[in-house]
Amino acid sequence: MLLATDLDGTFLGGTPEDKERLYHLLHHNKEIQLIFVTGRGIRSVLNLLEDTALPRPEYIICDVGATVTHLPTLAAVEPVQSNIAAKWPGDHVRETMKKVRGLLHQEAQQQYRCSYYYDEETDIESAREIAASLQCDMVLSAGKYLDILPGGVNKGYTLQQLLEILVLPHHKILVAGDSMNDITMYETGFKGVVVGDSEAELVRRTAGMSHVLQAQRAGAGGILEAMAFFPEFRSYL
Ligand SMILES: [Mg+2]
Repeated sequence: MLLATDLDGTFLGGTPEDKERLYHLLHHNKEIQLIFVTGRGIRSVLNLLEDTALPRPEYIICDVGATVTHLPTLAAVEPVQSNIAAKWPGDHVRETMKKVRGLLHQEAQQQYRCSYYYDEETDIESAREIAASLQCDMVLSAGKYLDILPGGVNKGYTLQQLLEILVLPHHKILVAGDSMNDITMYETGFKGVVVGDSEAELVRRTAGMSHVLQAQRAGAGGILEAMAFFPEFRSYL
């Protein structure tokens, strides 16, 4: 099977016992492939892997889908990455977004996205209009993160593009997340788990999806719960 999981609040969330059990499983069962699908940048994920005993994924989709890296070689995955780069308008996204009232720019080095913090003072409608005029998408998440991404690029899109190259059977894929920037992973139709303590809007938006389990347990516990729930993953526990 392949587990494509968000990091913060999902793979990195839950009780210490659940995390230990999930990580142990992934360390010892080489039949489970792992992909991280995160809003973090690659530098932040590499630091995390250095500092912890986390299982190492084969691929890392970072920047809410805007970059995809093969971890053993640290190479960008082609042609997926070039296709994303071709959709990105470039540096003038940041310049143009300066017009939006109430946006705080995130100080992270980024290539094919622009990230901000927002709050109730932020002029979201003007941000949305500017994004659209640049043929970009705007993604709001966790009530505080605002991302501008190349049009049509998101976690679900890039995961699908990557899986096309890997040619894996559809029914052996489990996606996991906890906030609104994960919704496109469920929209792919892959089996999925919305872990416990997820963003309320994500829980609401996935409530009618029969291929998605809304787990009770938070973080890693929710992933384990889903592996027990869906018959095709049970043998991997
Ligand atoms: Mg998360």
